[in-house]
Amino acid sequence: MHSELEEFIASSKLCNTHEHTEYERFYRASRHDVLTHLFDNYVVFDLHSAGASQQILDALVDPINPDVERRFRDVQPYWKKIELTGYAEGVKLAAKRLFAIGALTPDAISAAQEGCKYKGAENERRRLLKDIANLDHIQIDTNTRPFPPEMMGQDFFLYDLNAFDLCAGRPDFDVLERQLGKEVTSLEDLGAAIEMLFDISARYAVAVKSQHAYVRTLKWEPRSETDAAISFATVRRLGNAAPQADRLCLGDWCMSRVAQTCARHDLPFKIHTGYFTNNNFMPTDNLRAGNMDLFLKMHPNTRFMLMHIAYPHSDELIALAKHYTNVSIDMCWAWSINPLHASDFVRRYLHAAPRNKLFVFGGDTLLPTSSVGYALQFRKWFGRTLKREVADGTMSEEEAIRLADFFMMENPYDYYDLTRKKEILRSADADSIAKLGHEGAFGAPPKSIRDSGRA
Ligand SMILES: [Zn+2]
Repeated sequence: MHSELEEFIASSKLCNTHEHTEYERFYRASRHDVLTHLFDNYVVFDLHSAGASQQILDALVDPINPDVERRFRDVQPYWKKIELTGYAEGVKLAAKRLFAIGALTPDAISAAQEGCKYKGAENERRRLLKDIANLDHIQIDTNTRPFPPEMMGQDFFLYDLNAFDLCAGRPDFDVLERQLGKEVTSLEDLGAAIEMLFDISARYAVAVKSQHAYVRTLKWEPRSETDAAISFATVRRLGNAAPQADRLCLGDWCMSRVAQTCARHDLPFKIHTGYFTNNNFMPTDNLRAGNMDLFLKMHPNTRFMLMHIAYPHSDELIALAKHYTNVSIDMCWAWSINPLHASDFVRRYLHAAPRNKLFVFGGDTLLPTSSVGYALQFRKWFGRTLKREVADGTMSEEEAIRLADFFMMENPYDYYDLTRKKEILRSADADSIAKLGHEGAFGAPPKSIRDSGRA
């Protein structure tokens, strides 16, 4: 029997503060079938970890072969091994909601494929996310720049300005020069380019995002202009072949510039912390949020949003949010990585740190069907979590409902100034953007988000 609280959480609008939702054009151009909708997401990494070969997994999500029964049958022994993980739960919830599949069997998959309605129609992404997942909006990191023109004239898909290449200490000079129409041949040029990038983009961005933890330690130290200029010259000359020390030096310098510019434009700076996607590469010490303590301290006017609860170092992250006035936490991806841990995290957080610095949901995935599963998973576990607090006598059910509404809607609206941001996007068009001299912020994406080559 569901409580009123769980009903509320299951049926209310929800802000989604982090996804990598595929562009409309590439989503529509891809082939889709029941298995891509259900399995083309994080779950393949649990299957691989359980022993499934890359070949079986590639076949599982390759819609060229119409034999869905066979494709699932090959992976079934491994599916049995992971059925209880958070990633698998996302699959099961999406299967039930979108395809009325009670238990995943080859027969059920085959029957679902017969009636599969999701073939990549126009606005299918939006329908899945807005109408079925009942999301208020989603915040997308495309992993790259510039912004896609489809962002103008609507207010459901909001976008982060991506700063990964800068923070990683390997600026994408081609993209920068093309976007800004200026050469970047010195550290001074790079500083000016960052400035200009923000000048033309900040108005439309909901936040700035970097996932440099995938290619370097989160440890940060202040760098002098002299050292950074020497490293810049090496990185400019050697590109990705530049020594790690130079990339770290230039990356630290860029992080500082990006953080200062975020503060000037009042844009939150979202940073990946904790767990890695894929398999067989995760230096667990590098990805601790605590590595950034000096960075947080030296940029007191920047609002930092540390992501993914730094799993598995999540108590350290609670300590950072409790201590630093400029640190907030986004639980995106945390529920599917380990829902029990995420549930426990919410409770540990509530009894330690201010509630206005916690953001509870983002699916962090490419396909809207996967986001549907992850949103259902969030609603299920978040309901359970607050129900526990009610049972413990921390709050009444009525207070828990108010708190749920606060986390699901009110807090993101406040923090990201969403009413204003949405109005800006709704009214933006090619003319208004040209009038402001912001054309450079936008450009048709040459490849899909999946093929961006970045984590
Ligand atoms: Zn992400």
